[in-house]
Amino acid sequence: MTQHNEVPTITPPYLLLKVKYEFRIPPRGWGALVVAALCIAATSAVYTPAASGDHYDSLYPTGNTNWSCTGYGSHGTFQFCRTDNGTVTYHIHSSATWRIENPIRNNIDDKFDATDLTMVEHTTPVYSGSAETDIVVVGASFMVSTYGLIGGVFCNDAVSTTRCDQQYVYLDIPWYDSQTYNPYRKGNACHELGHAIGLTHGSNAAPIGAGSQPTDSWKSLKCLGIPSSTYPVLGSHNKEQINGQW
Ligand SMILES: [Zn+2]
Repeated sequence: MTQHNEVPTITPPYLLLKVKYEFRIPPRGWGALVVAALCIAATSAVYTPAASGDHYDSLYPTGNTNWSCTGYGSHGTFQFCRTDNGTVTYHIHSSATWRIENPIRNNIDDKFDATDLTMVEHTTPVYSGSAETDIVVVGASFMVSTYGLIGGVFCNDAVSTTRCDQQYVYLDIPWYDSQTYNPYRKGNACHELGHAIGLTHGSNAAPIGAGSQPTDSWKSLKCLGIPSSTYPVLGSHNKEQINGQW
């Protein structure tokens, strides 16, 4: 079991339709949405720290990501996958407050667009078809209170067992609004955006270890480490993972 299974609810297809429908209607009752968010630390029973400087794979799928990219599939969980191409379109939903929007934009412009990814804003999101908006950033009031998570990412439309056409980033408005120290917001925004293109925690990296514990190797995961606020930058390792793929 990975740390991406904190929400064990099986989601029947009608809930998929409900959620997708509500996303096409501007925000009404976000609290009613069924959302999962998958981003808290879990200690692996087989934790084996990678030595500092070792290469490790932390881009989904790795040898230690034991979930399939099925979106709202029968696995019943909401899990991120690898985004399906190197041109990443994104939309910042109107539910996102400025304390969410600013660090998201900062990360997209300064960190992710500085990789081989091409980040393109969709001011009008696309929720259907074969080229949906790749990342939709949503502000939600219930992430911490319901799931105990600051943020989380799930694939909405898988295009294969490993790739996703559209992933949602849910971020907790009360937490973001409470953080007057900007690097904490930047760190979490970086972390969740990283998941939204496919970057994993160290506990799902291959070899397992980097990023899971406060070791030297953990530091190489930067914002994909836990807690994400400790190193609020994308970091050279993650950039190499991205550029190695795209
Ligand atoms: Zn995470």
